[in-house]
Amino acid sequence: MYLIFKSDNYLKFILISLVGSISLGCQKTGQSIVDSKNLLPAPQKVEMTSSIFEPDKTEKIYIFSVAGQETHSIAEMLEDQFEKLYGKGLSVESITSKDEISRQGVVLGISGENDSFTELTSQLPSPLNDSDESYILNVSEGLVIISGASDRGLFYGVQTLIQLLEDAKWKDATIAGMRVEDWPDLELRWVHYNYFFHLDRFEYIKESIKKLAKYKINGIVFEFEDTFAYRSYPFVVSPNSFTPEQIRELTQFAHQYYVDIVPLVQGFGHAGYLLKHEELKHLREDPEIYQSFCPLKEETYDFIFDLFEETINATPGVKFFHIGADEVRHMGKCDLCKEKKKEVGDLGLYLTWLDRVNVFMESKGRTVVFWDDMPMKHAGLWQVIRNDADTTFEETWNSGISKLDKIITRFPEDGVFMRWNYQLGREKGNVNILDWYAKNNFKAMAATAVIGDWPLIPKYNWMPANIKSFVSLAAEKGILGELCTAWGDDSGNHFEVYWVGFLAASEYAWSGASPTTLDEYWEKYVYRFFGPDTNGLIEAFHILSERVDFWDSSLMKKGNKRRIGYEHITLPNLDSLPEAGSWVKHYKALFDSARVEKARCIEATAILKKQIGVVKDNAYNLEVFVTMGELMESYTDLVLSIERIAVYCDKNLSLMKDGEEPVKEEYSEMTDRVEEAWNDYLSTYERLKKVWEIARYPKGGEGYMLNDQTHYMAGRTTDLSYLILAEQELDLVGHVRKLSR
Ligand SMILES: [Zn+2]
Repeated sequence: MYLIFKSDNYLKFILISLVGSISLGCQKTGQSIVDSKNLLPAPQKVEMTSSIFEPDKTEKIYIFSVAGQETHSIAEMLEDQFEKLYGKGLSVESITSKDEISRQGVVLGISGENDSFTELTSQLPSPLNDSDESYILNVSEGLVIISGASDRGLFYGVQTLIQLLEDAKWKDATIAGMRVEDWPDLELRWVHYNYFFHLDRFEYIKESIKKLAKYKINGIVFEFEDTFAYRSYPFVVSPNSFTPEQIRELTQFAHQYYVDIVPLVQGFGHAGYLLKHEELKHLREDPEIYQSFCPLKEETYDFIFDLFEETINATPGVKFFHIGADEVRHMGKCDLCKEKKKEVGDLGLYLTWLDRVNVFMESKGRTVVFWDDMPMKHAGLWQVIRNDADTTFEETWNSGISKLDKIITRFPEDGVFMRWNYQLGREKGNVNILDWYAKNNFKAMAATAVIGDWPLIPKYNWMPANIKSFVSLAAEKGILGELCTAWGDDSGNHFEVYWVGFLAASEYAWSGASPTTLDEYWEKYVYRFFGPDTNGLIEAFHILSERVDFWDSSLMKKGNKRRIGYEHITLPNLDSLPEAGSWVKHYKALFDSARVEKARCIEATAILKKQIGVVKDNAYNLEVFVTMGELMESYTDLVLSIERIAVYCDKNLSLMKDGEEPVKEEYSEMTDRVEEAWNDYLSTYERLKKVWEIARYPKGGEGYMLNDQTHYMAGRTTDLSYLILAEQELDLVGHVRKLSR
C-alpha cells in the first residue's frame, strides 16, 4: 500500500471554493480519525491528505441528471447505509452542474459520463480503464467524490466508503482525507455454496450475498444438488428446495450487488444425488454404484441437458456455468464404454462427455467452468501437481504434458480450467500447469478451500494459509480468478464458519496490498467482521478449532464420526479387565485429555459469550460458535462419565474375583452420572439445533430418499442428528444398564 502523507492544499482549495457556502463545523476535541488500514480488501493505492471528513455532518448524495438506473440504485444503497449507521436520511439530489453542490455530501458518478462531473474530477486521476471494477475515491473536507470506471466500479467505491463510514461510526471518529485509486488483481472473485445435505434459508442467503458484496466478492458457485426444484424430473428434488422462480429472484437480487449466481450441476461423477433413484439406474456407468453417469448413452445427455437448461433459465444474465466433472470414479465399466475405452482410453471417454456438454453450453451462450483433475489424472500428471518432491518429476511431467499437448484442441477453447489445490498451491507441478494453461491461451481459476471434509470448525492452523498462498499466486500469474470452496457440508457444517476464509479469498484476490502475515489478516478480519472493541476472539476461534479432533475421534478405535466405517472403543465392562489391568489405567490418557479439553472449551466459550455483547456486527456468528463450543464441552462430560464406569468396573471386577457381591449403591451413582451426562449432551444438541436452524432448513423431510451409498454421516440423517449419531450408537446409558446384571 502506498501511504503518502502530504498536505493537499490545491485540491482543498478547489473543493472549498466549490462548496464555499457550507459550514464545515469544528472537529470535536480528542475525536479520533480513521484511515484506510482496516479496509478489507485492502485498496491498491492510498494517498493520505491532511483534511478531515465528518460523516455526521453529511446531508446530501449528489448524482448527475444523466445518471442511469444503476447509479440511482447505488445512491439508494449508500443512503440506506447512512441511515443504518447514523440514523439519519440523506437526500439523493440529481444535479446538472457541479455548481449545484452546496451542502456537505457525497458525489457519485461514472468517469466520462458527464462534462460537469469530468470538470469536478479534473484534478483526480481517472479510474484504471482496463477494469470496469476500478474506481477513484476522494475524501476531502466537506466532500467525498467517487468516480467509477463503470457502475460496477462505482459500486465498489461506495463499498469502500461504507467501510470507512462504519469505522468512523464505531469509533466516534472522523475520516481522514485520502485519495484511493483502486482496482482488482483478479477479475473473478468467487466463493462456493454447497447444498449436499442441507439448505440455507432464502432470506439468510440474501443477507449473505449482501455481505459478500461488501467485501467485493463477485460470484457464487451455487451447488444445488437436489435443492433446485427441477420441473422436468420432480422425483429427484428434495422436499426442501428452491423453485426456479426463487432462484431467478435470487439471481436478480445478487445482480443488484454485482454478484453472479453461477450454477454448478454435476452430471458425470459425484452424481449420487441423482443416480440413487431407481428411475435413473439405466444411466449409471456401473448399475450398482450411484457415483457416475455413462458418457456414451444418449439418454444421459437427454437427462442432464434438461437439468442444465432449467438452471440456466433460472439464472439469466450469468455468463458462466460450472459443470463439475471431477473425480469421476467409475469410467469404462459398462459394455459400451469398455469397448470404446480400448480405442480412446479413459481420457477419451472424459473428452467425449466434455465436448458434448461444451457444445450444449455454447448453444445456450454459457461458458463452461470445469474441475481440471480428470484430464490431469488421466494424463498421469496428478502426482506431480500435488507433490514437487517426486524424484521422477521431470520425466513424469514431460510424459504427461505431451499427452495433453496431443489433445489440446479437444478442450473447450473458451472454457475455464478450475485448478483446485487445497495445499499451498506453490508446488512445482501446480505452478507448471498454470503456466501451461497460460502458454496455450486457456483461462484458469485457482480454487482453494476454507474447509474440506472436516467437522464443525476449519483447521485454523493451516487455513487461511492455503488461501493466501494460492490466491496470491493466481494474482501473480494474472489468471482469470479464484474460487474459495467450502466443502463443509460433507460434514454438515454451519455456513457461518466459512466467513474467515471467504474474506481471506477476497483480501488476497483484490490486491497485493493485503496483509503480509496471517496474524495481521486475522486481526483485520476480526476488526472488520465484528467491530473494533472485541477482546480474545482470535484466541477463542483457535482454541475451539483445536478441540474438534477430540470430539471427532477420541471415542473411536478406528475412523472418525464423520465417515462410515468407524469403530467405537470398547467400553469398560464386567467381562474382564483390559491388558492394562484396570479400565481406569487403560483409558487414563483419554480421561486426562477430556479434562484438558473441557477446560479449554469452557475458556473459549466464555470469551465468545462475553463478546456477543461487544460486537458491532455478526453476533449470530458468535452464537453459532458458542453452540459448537458447548457441544464439544458437553462431549467431554460424556467421556468423563466413562471414567466413572471404569472406576465401577475396576472395583467390581476385583470384588467378584474375591467372590464378593457387587457394590449396589455405587451402581446407581454411576448410572445417574452417565444419564445426566447424556441428557446434558442431548439438551446441548437441542440448543445447537435451535440456533443453527435460524439459518438453515432441516434437509429432507417427509419422503426424502437418503443416498445409502454416501460415506458421509451428514448424508445419512435428514436432520442435524448426524452430529450426535456416533454417541447415540455408543449408547452409554444402555451400556450401564447392562452392567446391573
Ligand atoms: Zn458407459
